[in-house]
Amino acid sequence: MTELIAGNLKRVRDAIESAAESSGRSADDVTLVGVTKYVDASVARQLYDAGCRDLGESRPQVLWDKAEVLAELDIRWHMIGHLQRNKVPRTVGACDLVHSVDSMRLIKAINAEGEKTDRVTNVLLEANVSGEQAKHGFSQDELKTAMSAIFELPHVKPCGLMCMAGLESDERETRNQFASLRKLREEIASAAPAGRRDGFRELSMGMSGDFEMAIEEGATIVRLGSILFEGIR
Ligand SMILES: *Cc1c(COP(=O)(O)O)cnc(C)c1O
Repeated sequence: MTELIAGNLKRVRDAIESAAESSGRSADDVTLVGVTKYVDASVARQLYDAGCRDLGESRPQVLWDKAEVLAELDIRWHMIGHLQRNKVPRTVGACDLVHSVDSMRLIKAINAEGEKTDRVTNVLLEANVSGEQAKHGFSQDELKTAMSAIFELPHVKPCGLMCMAGLESDERETRNQFASLRKLREEIASAAPAGRRDGFRELSMGMSGDFEMAIEEGATIVRLGSILFEGIR
């Protein structure tokens, strides 16, 4: 199984590299987050051993548990799914980046927790670019309006944006959604206070089915699960 995972990881890295090169970018500018929600901690560890240091989970409790089991490894944990406010304290203590900040109430809770524990939490704002009702996230207009208040919060560091393409979207629509996230980031960064602008650079977009397109459209972080564990589940 270790070899299978290492082989999958190699293929994925090659695909990331070609997608980056074909759009005039460097693969070094794209961080691969291995999404381990389909596997247990021992398999997650094999992905780490194969060289993937950034791991992501979509459920807070599962992230806490895996992070605890694998605590001796220098894993950067990414919270990529919906986060309830009552789970903020344990989650911000366990992870390096929260991708899925989808409301003002949530980011204020993260900021308040940081104030209590003297911590600055790295966050991405999740934008609903597909317009699908079931999706979490700020609408693009909401986010543009909310950003000035968000940039004032001293205990969060907004590092950029995150999105998920619509489930119903075809290839052209998906590409447009990624492109609109990129434009939104540019707009927000150019309106940001000077001290916040340079830090606001990440675009977390792209999953197993669409990461190459996401990279062509500017993704700096891709979140990949199924493609890394092909042949294992
Ligand atoms: C599960 C999940 C992923 C990974 O999806 P795959 O299609 O398996 O690569 C990425 N992002 C989020 C938010 C997820 O929940």
